[in-house]
Amino acid sequence: MKYAYSVFLGFFTVALGATASAELTLQSDYPGGNIIVEKRTPASVALRQDYHTSSRWWFYWNFEATAAPGEIVTFNFTDGKVIGTRGPAVSLDRGLTWRWLGSGTVDTEKRLTSFRYTFPKGGEPVRFAFAPPYQVSHLDRFLDTVSGNPVLRVDQLCQSKAQRDVPRIRISTPDTTPQHRIFITARHHACESMAGYVLEGIVAALLDDSEDGTWLRDHAELMAIPFVDVDGVEQGEQGKYRSPRDHGRDYAGEAIYNSTRAIRETVPPWADGRLHLALDLHCPHIRGNYNEFIYQVGQEDPAIWKEQQRFATLLAAVPDKALPYAASNDLPFGQAWNSGKNYTQGIPMARWAADIPGVRLATTIEIPYANVGDVTVTTEKARAFGATLVTAMRHYLESLDE
Ligand SMILES: [Zn+2]
Repeated sequence: MKYAYSVFLGFFTVALGATASAELTLQSDYPGGNIIVEKRTPASVALRQDYHTSSRWWFYWNFEATAAPGEIVTFNFTDGKVIGTRGPAVSLDRGLTWRWLGSGTVDTEKRLTSFRYTFPKGGEPVRFAFAPPYQVSHLDRFLDTVSGNPVLRVDQLCQSKAQRDVPRIRISTPDTTPQHRIFITARHHACESMAGYVLEGIVAALLDDSEDGTWLRDHAELMAIPFVDVDGVEQGEQGKYRSPRDHGRDYAGEAIYNSTRAIRETVPPWADGRLHLALDLHCPHIRGNYNEFIYQVGQEDPAIWKEQQRFATLLAAVPDKALPYAASNDLPFGQAWNSGKNYTQGIPMARWAADIPGVRLATTIEIPYANVGDVTVTTEKARAFGATLVTAMRHYLESLDE
């Protein structure tokens, strides 16, 4: 998974007595990094994503490159169409903030497998990824900005197999028994980074002094697990289709992962009949139908599907949504990929949560990586969509009291 390699592209001028800074360096030895470099020429690199921990092809990659100031390098991917509708994501601050490079950096035919980049004049390292990553360090930074808030508690759900803490976020007003409980998860599939930004936006909105935040803190308690597959997230693994089964299918039979086992053991007693809303955040495939709009994955149980449709109406009605959403895009059970065939390895969190006594709405929401229709998904918009979801959650829980 980790890769470090460097080569001299240019020359050094003996007459000047110094080396020209013409070295192209590629590496992925940092949290989330993932690349295999196959071949290079002075102005191009052939490379591919590493998905050896999974049973199927996927499109997760993330690497850092440093080149001579102003150097133009073409990156050619050799294993499938791994560049999304807005081109690669680029970071000039070592992964802290990201923007889309755009899809116009190579000719049309190759733009799903290749991009060209002009390195900055300052010679600083540049990170590239198929979508803006959201690592544990991103969550830590966010939590630093809200620490000290008396309703917020952050502890550990458990330790992962690689001895990482699996963080758990709780928001509850001290010394009160909430009317409602809310359980939210993300990153059952490690690569689904935009879900991380949405979850951060949900937590921020719940702590906010807004009408929705205040109502929810007065009436509800949140438990959220932002990285169900924290090892995959930090080790730069896609996590989707992880062998022998992925975290998103580990809710039937005996759990094989520490985090899913801990969720299955601790959430039902915590629920205590008041867990009314369970939400699992995901990102879909890289592009194409069902991958360029936001939608709920319909459950087989008609009573739960009916609640999903009620939630859909409330979500669609939120004014000034950060990203567009239409209830008609939701995917009923039995259609497209959402059939029994997709769940032969096991069942996902939302399907499991639907059976916890008291649960009314148990749903999965898919948030695209790069675009929702014509709207580009940025990290800011993904965060803001978290606030949109919070408004809809408030209206949903209020409707249960009516
Ligand atoms: Zn997923």
